[in-house]
Amino acid sequence: MRWENLTPDSEHSRADAALFGAEAVITRTFDMPEFRGITFHEIRARSIVNRVPGASRMPFEWTVNPYRGCTHACVYCFARKTHSYLDLDTGLGFDSQIVVKTNAPELLRRRLSSRSWQGEHIAMGTNVDCYQRAEGRYRLMPGILAALRDHANPFSILTKGTLILRDLPLLRQAAEVTDVGISVSVGFTDETLWRTVEPGTPAPERRLDVVRALAGHGIGCGVLMAPVIPFLSDRPDQLRATVRAIAAAGATSVTPLVLHLRPGAREWFMSWLARHHPHLVDRYQRLYAEGAYAPKWYQRRITRQVHELAQEYGIGPAGAGMPRRIRPAAPAEPPTAEPTQLTLL
Ligand code: SF4
Repeated sequence: MRWENLTPDSEHSRADAALFGAEAVITRTFDMPEFRGITFHEIRARSIVNRVPGASRMPFEWTVNPYRGCTHACVYCFARKTHSYLDLDTGLGFDSQIVVKTNAPELLRRRLSSRSWQGEHIAMGTNVDCYQRAEGRYRLMPGILAALRDHANPFSILTKGTLILRDLPLLRQAAEVTDVGISVSVGFTDETLWRTVEPGTPAPERRLDVVRALAGHGIGCGVLMAPVIPFLSDRPDQLRATVRAIAAAGATSVTPLVLHLRPGAREWFMSWLARHHPHLVDRYQRLYAEGAYAPKWYQRRITRQVHELAQEYGIGPAGAGMPRRIRPAAPAEPPTAEPTQLTLL
């Protein structure tokens, strides 16, 4: 293990702290194989509950994000741009320079206890994955879930991480006193595509195992089918295979979301595309000529196809057949506004 900035008073540490909006920063690396090449910036954050900007079309107002950067390393990740706000690289840096808000549980507990807090819904996993690999080491989510449970505060989680199953007892306890929404993100089931475009994530089938396990414990879980990647995962047979697998896992709902390419993600994705699928570069430039989003006609086509398949495979509407207090996290249309801390996995 290597430590840097051990003295919070050092010039370097003070500069980092100001940049990260933190009281102090400790940077360290671990030698274990699962964290090789990854640098953790441990910070004592000043706040943990963030308000979604008013212009956003998200169906929630408050978010909690204990991490910045994500070792799941999805090439298309919509959150890449947010790393530039920390003066960190949005490509490999986003995958390997992880900011950890080590005091997230205590900050949240304090905020939930404050008189100004009205008990609003809190969404997690809306910027980066709160169950990414780092969570296995830092274990911030148990403290966060315990605080939400103790205050009976409604919340939702969107994740690609199988680690969420570790916290099943806490999720169940929370669901006894408040509304809990859980969604897992699975855009496709093609293993070859997964290995190159989502290299740090659990395999799609393992993520569907999470849906299966939650359903087995009576916890309804929706699937955010995101992203559907044009020309790589959008063939009718691919959509069918994915929806069929989602249905077989017992998902309570499926919500498709077509790839969008905001600045930060766009450059990284396009360089990946040029390396792995060079024949598609021109088609992408045409499809995304108007900006970050694929044309409406394309989005509508995918949505219709997925909804028809969901009906065929009997995936019910959100909330059907679930315990009253446990609902799939409500995914939303992506915001049209320029990046906030909100991206959706
Ligand atoms: S898309 Fe989600 S899981 Fe993938 S790198 Fe981004 S935050 Fe992590």
